[in-house]
Amino acid sequence: MKNIKKYIFLIISFIIISNFGFGQNNEIKIKFIGNCGLYMTDGDLNLYLDFPYKSGAHNYMEYDSSELDSISNNSVFIFTHRHSDHYSKKILRKIKKEHEGKVFGNWNTTELNELNNSVNDFTVKAIKTSHKFTFKHFSYLITWHNKKIYISGDTGSLEELSKLKGIDLAFMNPWLFMNAEKEKVTIDAKMFGIYHLYPDQKIGEGFPDNVHFLTEQNEIILIPYNN
Ligand SMILES: [Zn+2]
Repeated sequence: MKNIKKYIFLIISFIIISNFGFGQNNEIKIKFIGNCGLYMTDGDLNLYLDFPYKSGAHNYMEYDSSELDSISNNSVFIFTHRHSDHYSKKILRKIKKEHEGKVFGNWNTTELNELNNSVNDFTVKAIKTSHKFTFKHFSYLITWHNKKIYISGDTGSLEELSKLKGIDLAFMNPWLFMNAEKEKVTIDAKMFGIYHLYPDQKIGEGFPDNVHFLTEQNEIILIPYNN
């Protein structure tokens, strides 16, 4: 029941913020898999962020192996960095063998231009951000059917994010979100999805309605858009 309530709340929120008009009822569907692992589709492009990762790595969230079985052919995989709670070379190799697909990460972000040129109404921009355990970490700004989705990954750095305007949905890890609160940095986003929580992490109270904690794996978030 809790799930359904959340789900309805998110749908309503996004309908309100999306200038819902007379056009076709199109939507970007986002599934929260676990950690920073997200699956997004508009029915055309199948996009994974920080997935597949090593299930349960660093005591973070596990996921069901059916998640791997459901991966479509020619999906696109984008990674913020290659720590095992975000990335698994072994699993990826197997998926590529069975389903082809394109893989992007901190080693080939310049090639994202090719992706941007080949997919309609979609761009992803790599933003170099710091992460203390690796030299190469990227956050991403996805613009898809005029909706802007920010992907923080593991960075705690607000500098780049605070300069962005008109984000529809910002996925942020808890330490980045807490840094913003502590330093009183305003982030221009309509909704916040706080991800990369521990499986049993307790969430405080008193957050604004547009801050949603991704504690429930497989939760679906819909972003309606007009064509
Ligand atoms: Zn991590």
